[in-house]
Amino acid sequence: EFDVKAEMASLKIDAEALSAGRHKIIFDVLTDTALYGERRELHSAFSNLISNAIRYTPEGGQITVSWSLSPSRHGIFSVTDTGPGIDAVHLPRITERFYRVDGSRSRDTGGTGLGLAIVKHIATRHNAQLLITSVVGEGSTFKLRFAPERLI
Ligand code: ATP
Ligand code: MG
Repeated sequence: EFDVKAEMASLKIDAEALSAGRHKIIFDVLTDTALYGERRELHSAFSNLISNAIRYTPEGGQITVSWSLSPSRHGIFSVTDTGPGIDAVHLPRITERFYRVDGSRSRDTGGTGLGLAIVKHIATRHNAQLLITSVVGEGSTFKLRFAPERLI
């Protein structure tokens, strides 16, 4: 059993430390619903999405993290940033191992290109979908959508 509400509090502390005041960070827990799943894996998936948002969003940007229930009773973990966004050409490949968007925005940011491949793998193991929407110049939203049978 994975207590998402408690996890959100600890993710918030980690996110604030990683951002070091460079971003506005908002955490919204909109449901008490918990998840059936593997604690370390879910922690790793959630924190990967948050660390990407912080890493790729320039200073002054905003990161919004939420945990909610959809009308169809799916559990939605969502991370939205006001970063550079991801061009539609790259989106289909973004979760492949070692795939990184080239160009100045990733050149200096470190990373190996494994994070999202791991997130997708963990999602699959937990009956969740990884949904990505992005507008270049506006930002990105990464959602993990958990099947109702995974919720407690
Ligand atoms: P790692 O996570 O292994 O340290 P990484 O962050 O480069 O390295 P992924 O997390 O898989 O690898 O992300 C792949 C690529 O997708 C990144 O290199 C970056 O180009 C792009 N990307 C990921 N998240 C975002 C985001 N929130 N905004 C803009 N681009 C992103
Ligand atoms: Mg990453």
